Amino acid sequence: MSVMQRYQHKDLVGLRVGRVNLGINTSFIVYRLGDTVIDTGPTNQWKYVKPFIESSPFEQLLLTHHHEDHSGNAGAIHRLTGIQPKAPTLTIDILKRGFKIPPMQKFIWGRCGLADAQPLPEDITIGGEQTQALFTPGHAKDMTCYLMKERGWLFSADLYIANRLKLLRSDEHLPTLLDSIRFTLSHDFDTLLCPHRGVVENGHSKLREKYDYLMNLAEQAQGLNSQGVELKEITNRLLGKEGAIGILSRYNFSKRNLIASCLEVEFDQRLQKA
Ligand SMILES: [Zn+2]
Repeated sequence: MSVMQRYQHKDLVGLRVGRVNLGINTSFIVYRLGDTVIDTGPTNQWKYVKPFIESSPFEQLLLTHHHEDHSGNAGAIHRLTGIQPKAPTLTIDILKRGFKIPPMQKFIWGRCGLADAQPLPEDITIGGEQTQALFTPGHAKDMTCYLMKERGWLFSADLYIANRLKLLRSDEHLPTLLDSIRFTLSHDFDTLLCPHRGVVENGHSKLREKYDYLMNLAEQAQGLNSQGVELKEITNRLLGKEGAIGILSRYNFSKRNLIASCLEVEFDQRLQKA
């Protein structure tokens, strides 16, 4: 059963879509604020995203990163409205040539959508309000969040999603993600606009909780590793048995990946408090 739900938070509107109704990891919120649409939803939900896009005029489409749930309809929106997506430089290249999607993700989101995006302008505004692009790799090498300082709002892409992360994709890199979270925490904001979780109040402290949880997990994993405990057993002890998603994705999105990446965290990071 597919998901289709409209959201409103002050002057922000959102549309949650998804082919598979299995919670926040299998559905996606396309946000609109003033003259701007932020990310596009996946290609297999175009029939729902299209009327949402057509429902009122807009002037700008900002992308956070290339992943298929975020960028899938960028090309289709461009063709429909003439509005060329704006994206981080790395994203532009990936969307030009396309990218491979593991089978389980393809089932959930559909194929990738090619797009001809243009670089982010020097001065970004959303509805006339100054907006800062924060380059935040780790989840994806091209990921960028958008901070609206005056409102204290952060379009957080996939930086947050949950404060207790249990699974990691094989293309994610935890040490880089931790650097990006620390960098983001050095800015002021209080609301996260997460395209999976929705509007998250007290977003700064929620993101801090995620950081502390991951640092703590990394410390425990490294403690067990130094006692000679094997990766599979460390995973078992700290996160429990691998679930259906881990096995169905052939460990592409798994607890084991998270623990393996925990072992790469360098602990001087703990000293660099945000
Ligand atoms: Zn992503």
